[in-house]
Amino acid sequence: MIFDIVTIFPSFFDSPLKEGVIHKAIESGLLEVRTTNLRDYTHDRHRTTDDRPYGGGEGMVMKIEPLYEAVEDLKGMPPAPKVILMSPRGRVLNQRLVEQLARERRLVLVCGRYEGVDERFIEHCVDMEISIGDYILSGGETPALVIIEAVSRLIPGVLGCPASPRRDSFSNGLLEYPHYTRPASFKGWKVPDVLLSGDHRKIDRWRREQSLRITLERRPDLLKKALLSQEDIEYLKGLGWNPE
Ligand code: SAH
Repeated sequence: MIFDIVTIFPSFFDSPLKEGVIHKAIESGLLEVRTTNLRDYTHDRHRTTDDRPYGGGEGMVMKIEPLYEAVEDLKGMPPAPKVILMSPRGRVLNQRLVEQLARERRLVLVCGRYEGVDERFIEHCVDMEISIGDYILSGGETPALVIIEAVSRLIPGVLGCPASPRRDSFSNGLLEYPHYTRPASFKGWKVPDVLLSGDHRKIDRWRREQSLRITLERRPDLLKKALLSQEDIEYLKGLGWNPE
């Protein structure tokens, strides 16, 4: 998987890409992350990437020419990428969209700054706008990192344990069950007995029920779309869940 990030702050990505799972994936060649400095596509002495908005008002707008030239250059290289603009107006990122993105071979992630980018760039050069949530950040760099991190976990070989992305919260439409590790008792706070029982059928059922209970308590909206067995439905009804 290849990510090309278009940004006025390429060094923003230096340290996050040098840590943990992403670093390993880059080292092993499963992932390639490159930055394109938008200022390299300016032609004036001040390397200007923004200008005042037509029609007046506060703030600055990112100019179309450097964005267009940078993205055209990137589109000229194989494999053909999908061009994504980070934008609070975009489709809100969730695990389903992450899964969809993980099927692409190459993504160009364009990071806005200031008030955003000239609309003509969006209209003519961008395939999709993505938001990471209903709040406003100062730039698209953090959202781009969020996408890279979420998508790269789904690339085969990136995680040490291939089963774990499938068990994560959301991947089955539910929030995840609680985890415990040694010691079995800390300050008298005990690990649930069932987890020490060695009975894997019982443990699986307990985990499933915890997932259902936590999802019902915190995100009942998710239950409407989750894949539930008859046993799950009975359990949830016992907790007071009303499917309508
Ligand atoms: N004036 C804009 C906000 C601009 S914030 C508005 O009201 O919609 C500057 C840049 O930060 C945006 O162009 C975008 O690239 C990025 N950004 C801010 N919040 C974001 C979010 N929730 N998701 C994705 N990108 C975001």
